[in-house]
Amino acid sequence: MNDSFDVIVAGAGPAGAQCARDLATRQYDVVVLETESEDVFPRQSNKSTGGTFPPMLATFGIPDEAVMHFTDTVVVESPNEHFTLKQAGAVLDFGAFKTYLVEDGQQKGATYRFDARVSKPIMESSEIVGVQYNGSKKVYGDIIVDATGPSAPLAKALGVSDLKRTQQAIGIEYELEGVDLDTAGYANLTNAMMLRLGHDYAPGGYSWIFHTGGDTAKVGLCYIQNESYQRYAETRRTVDGYLQQWLDTDPRFSTADRIEGRQHRGSAHIQAPGSLSTDNFMAIGDTVPTIDPLWGEGIQKGMRSGRAAAIAADQCLIPSEPTTTAEDLSLYNELWHTEVAPGHDSRLWMAELLYLASNDRYDSLIRDLNHFDAATLRKMNNGNKLAIAKLLRFDDLSLLVQFVKHQFST
Ligand SMILES: Cc1cc2nc3c(=O)[nH]c(=O)nc-3n(C[C@H](O)[C@H](O)[C@H](O)COP(=O)(O)OP(=O)(O)OC[C@H]3O[C@@H](n4cnc5c(N)ncnc54)[C@H](O)[C@@H]3O)c2cc1C
Repeated sequence: MNDSFDVIVAGAGPAGAQCARDLATRQYDVVVLETESEDVFPRQSNKSTGGTFPPMLATFGIPDEAVMHFTDTVVVESPNEHFTLKQAGAVLDFGAFKTYLVEDGQQKGATYRFDARVSKPIMESSEIVGVQYNGSKKVYGDIIVDATGPSAPLAKALGVSDLKRTQQAIGIEYELEGVDLDTAGYANLTNAMMLRLGHDYAPGGYSWIFHTGGDTAKVGLCYIQNESYQRYAETRRTVDGYLQQWLDTDPRFSTADRIEGRQHRGSAHIQAPGSLSTDNFMAIGDTVPTIDPLWGEGIQKGMRSGRAAAIAADQCLIPSEPTTTAEDLSLYNELWHTEVAPGHDSRLWMAELLYLASNDRYDSLIRDLNHFDAATLRKMNNGNKLAIAKLLRFDDLSLLVQFVKHQFST
């Protein structure tokens, strides 16, 4: 007899593990295949800073034990300015968080197979009917979900995702102790998540300091190899080299030390989504990619996409004669565009425009942000074009020309 399930999920990240939790709660027979070993999980995939917000914790029932530190503010910094927004947040212990999602899913009835590296789809009559893992092992399912993040072996093979190397953002982070969170001349970062725009430390991207309690913080940076990277980056400096340069030159780290074994690195693609689903198949999380293009919020977005996939699977599997064609699964596409990542396209162009701007323009942007009320700022963050227009200045014309040229060349 074939080894078979209602749903196969490849990858136990936030997206896949949440999809499995929801399907197990609805009593479906679901198996999650995860490439890492159970005894070290998550090791390589423990890649994220884990900055998130209360709606994620409440929506998905995440316990305080998975949170390293609760925060009160979000700070946006440029080379010479800063802007502080009162906004509750949480910095997760990403490893503990992933472990919680897995254990909770198992308690709800999901089957987990660790040490199970998915390599390719099993096809019958041009449709995926199962997956091959660890070389020759096979498992079959009515619906298959690729949640393997950027590796995406199934979504790529089926042509559902076309993750472009040129759109890949790479990130590195250290956890530090001895950080001076309230240095004169800088924003007070006590109980804050801070994002910094500046091509000196993160050419073509941004860097961050997330307070994790006491004098400890997660400190990292990421960038995409875009035009600003080509313009501002030192050719020989690696992403690790950029982080070291920041640690060596910013007075907030003059007495800081790295906490042993607490280093995280990874990548995600900042681009438009692919086709999201096809017959018997859905792609979720960073496989799509679902991550917010502007600020890199991928955890909540990924989990919401996992939930949307579970809802679509439920709708297909409930009838006495279930059908799982692309048309049946198109509910997932609809939910993705309306609930999971609304305005993804406008946030993509906002991100592209933002990372093309100069350090001086970042300073003037932060000065302007300090003059807007909370309602206007919320509209800007939600992609409202009229609100964003208030941020534009006459000398942005050359930036817009550069942006349009870039759009036509890609
Ligand atoms: C340095 C860094 C910092 C970040 N900081 C934040 C942040 O502060 N806040 C935020 O919201 N987001 C952040 N993100 C983004 C966020 O971590 C991701 O968007 C999120 O983890 C995506 O979840 P996912 O489940 O789609 O994929 P992943 O987290 O990539 O999980 C994929 C899972 O699949 C497994 N896998 C991979 N290949 C295979 C295979 N072939 N077979 C079986 N299993 C496989 C992996 O081991 C992993 O467990 C950060 C990302 C990075 C790299």
